Amino acid sequence: MKFSKQENLVRLNERYTPLSPLKRMERLFSEIDHDRILMTSSFGTTSAILLHMISKIAPQHQVYLVSTGYLFNETLQYKKELKKKLGLNIVEVGAKENKHRFTQENQTWKYQNDLCCFINKVDATNQLKKGKDIWISGLLRFQNANRQHLRIFEPGNELLKFHPIIDMTAEDVSLYFTIYDLPQNKLYYQGYGSVGCTHCTEKGDQREGRWLSRQKTECGLHL
Ligand code: SF4
Repeated sequence: MKFSKQENLVRLNERYTPLSPLKRMERLFSEIDHDRILMTSSFGTTSAILLHMISKIAPQHQVYLVSTGYLFNETLQYKKELKKKLGLNIVEVGAKENKHRFTQENQTWKYQNDLCCFINKVDATNQLKKGKDIWISGLLRFQNANRQHLRIFEPGNELLKFHPIIDMTAEDVSLYFTIYDLPQNKLYYQGYGSVGCTHCTEKGDQREGRWLSRQKTECGLHL
């Protein structure tokens, strides 16, 4: 059976849920035109899993890094390291210069962090959605309460969201890195469980260091 945009979400989830994360990715790329698939990565502490999978299944597929202008140097180094090791086709995108400058001048990460994420992440990503049907995301259910209900396929605003590793546990993640000898973002060894922008990331388990002490847990890209 081939993938159809009209296929019922329940049926899609039934077909993909019994598969391993790698088999889910393989099936998606065998059932849908690759040009219709959007893949982004933050090059954070769990990103290497999906990046490793795509390097095996569709090594030339474009992987977009939404560069906010506030990323850690360690993350940019990690991007280079993974590109070399896995042979990834990485494309960096970001907000228009004048919009990004507005966030710098107004320190929006302090005073209007939703606007800051919108300009530097969400709006920049929206440009990538044109002509795509599906967006692959590396969300993990165990990382925070907002993600508990997520299934492999979820409807998005414009694109169907695909979460092939959503049910991996912390142990599965650790095992995957070990089995495939994947390098880790150096910030992980400094105590950062999750990594975003310098202004909004502190040390902590899983995602507890993201927007710490603020009423925010997600950037708005995926949830
Ligand atoms: S994570 Fe912080 S610095 Fe980065 S875009 Fe969002 S509010 Fe701005």
